[in-house]
Amino acid sequence: MAGERWFYRNTEEWIAIVERLKLTPCPHCKVVGALIRHGSLYGFDEHNPQRKTRRARRVFCSNRQARPGCGRTFSVWAADKIRRLGLTTSGLWRFLQRAVADGIRAAIRSIDCHLSDRTLLRIWKRFHHAQSKIRTALFGRCPPPELPAEHRPAAQVLAHLQAAFPDVPCPIASFQQALRTFFV
Ligand SMILES: [Zn+2]
Repeated sequence: MAGERWFYRNTEEWIAIVERLKLTPCPHCKVVGALIRHGSLYGFDEHNPQRKTRRARRVFCSNRQARPGCGRTFSVWAADKIRRLGLTTSGLWRFLQRAVADGIRAAIRSIDCHLSDRTLLRIWKRFHHAQSKIRTALFGRCPPPELPAEHRPAAQVLAHLQAAFPDVPCPIASFQQALRTFFV
C-alpha cells in the first residue's frame, strides 16, 4: 500500500467507507469485492488513560468461502489518533505548540496527562525526526509563511501546518486525513 494510510473523521465517514467497501480495491492485492469489516483496534490516550478507546477499524481482504481476496488486513484510522502514540492529535498539537513557545520542559510540566516525562521527551524527538517529511508534505499544499529568521525549525513547521490547514479544530488530524499519512 506504499505507506498510504486511510483515515475517517467520524462515524458518518466510517459508514460511507463501509458502504463503498465492496467497490473498493484492496490496497494490498487490488482485488475488488473482497473487503469486509474485521473489528477494531483499541488503546489509551490522554482523554482515556484508564479505559481503552477505539483507535482504528480493521478491514479484511477475504479469501474465505471462495472469496477472491488475499487474506490480509489493514487499518482505517480515526483521524485524531496516531499509531504508537498515547496522545490524540489535539493533545499532540497543544503539546508541540507549548514546547515551541516555552520550551520542552515547560510543555512537559503543563500537559497534565498519564504519560511519563520520558515518553513525552520521546514524542518531542519523534516530531523532530519527522520534521523534514512534514515540511515536504506541506509544500505540496502551500508555501510556508514568512517568519523572522530567528524562529526555530520546529516553530516554522507548526506555522506552516497551521497555514496549510486554517480554521480546523486540529491541524494535525486534518494533515493526516488530507495527506493520508501519520503526522509522526
Ligand atoms: Zn487483498
